[in-house]
Amino acid sequence: MTSGADRPNLTPRIANRAVLIPLVGLAVLISLTAWRLLGSGNGPAVYEFTGGTMGTTYSVKVETVPLSTEKQNEIASIIQAALDDVDGRMSTYDTASELSHFNAHHSTTPFPVSESVYEVFALAKRISGITGGAFDITVGPLVNLWGFGPIATTGSMPDASVVARLRAFVGWDKIVLDGDGRTLTKLHPETVADLSAIAKGYAVDRVADELVAEGMSTFLIEVGGELKARGTKHSGDRWRVAIEEPDTAARRVFRAVELENAAIATSGDYRNFDERDGVMYSHIIDPRTGRPNPYRGSLVSVIDGSAAVADAWATALTVLGPEHGWELAEREGIAAFFVTRADTGYDSVVTTAFRERTKGGES
Ligand code: ADP
Ligand code: MG
Repeated sequence: MTSGADRPNLTPRIANRAVLIPLVGLAVLISLTAWRLLGSGNGPAVYEFTGGTMGTTYSVKVETVPLSTEKQNEIASIIQAALDDVDGRMSTYDTASELSHFNAHHSTTPFPVSESVYEVFALAKRISGITGGAFDITVGPLVNLWGFGPIATTGSMPDASVVARLRAFVGWDKIVLDGDGRTLTKLHPETVADLSAIAKGYAVDRVADELVAEGMSTFLIEVGGELKARGTKHSGDRWRVAIEEPDTAARRVFRAVELENAAIATSGDYRNFDERDGVMYSHIIDPRTGRPNPYRGSLVSVIDGSAAVADAWATALTVLGPEHGWELAEREGIAAFFVTRADTGYDSVVTTAFRERTKGGES
């Protein structure tokens, strides 16, 4: 969904990030491989399943009774299939995806979609409404214009008239949803959708559902920096994850949090940004202006029961920033953590819900 090693490097910007590092170890790109990390005899063991999806990597750690090699392979395949299914439906890089077909449908006639695509559009629309359009899945043409999408552009500042022309068909309210017929209808034939800011979180939720269906109750899933944890480990410990400093080079842990039956997603401007006429811009578009957010050296982490919800909110709050964003998150009971570069070090602020959710498990 974002650029990856197997895709052409379209701009000189910094490649994909993995903001949240599970403290137990970084994911390594080994497809369909299960690693047994801990445990012996008949006691519980932790298996790690890693691979690639959506132009990024994933890591799934499962604590369970010892599994046969056959069962490990079966779980590895279930995880990969769930991720491939989401990518196959929601990728803007894959011209054969369901989303690409919707985007190529230059018409205002209703377009039928699968349950999962409909679900993600419905969630995106709900969060667009609450955030006053800060979250907007129709910003794709602007993402491309500024050189952050599948279509390459580089060089100087885009012309204001081009931005204005594109904005005629950009807007989350330009796609109408019909739940009965499960269709999406464009109000402007050129409107397109980009699910990059929500699909990784959705994929995390899907993998979690599959693992629960397999009888697994203790696991930590990470896809491109978005995580979901379930259960308490045999040792009595909760899963612990690190929020890193919003610094391109440092990769230092800024804060660790413990999660139990919750997801955490992070959006930041420090791993994916580009320069235009001497100004640094992030890959997140402010739909109110049609321009990318200026680079601030910042991140927003959101904790929620749903990784898709956390993912979308993290992007929206990055658009809104630590003042307006914090006010909205506080009012809506969203658990959010804002970190912004200051003259020395970083300023950080949390909402009440974030403080509540991380009580006793922070450091
Ligand atoms: P990442 O995908 O890098 O983890 P995000 O979840 O914040 O980070 O998603 C950023 C991507 O979402 C951008 O690369 C772009 O494709 C898309 N996007 C940019 N601005 C917005 C916005 N205001 N609302 C929704 N999606 C956006
Ligand atoms: Mg997001």
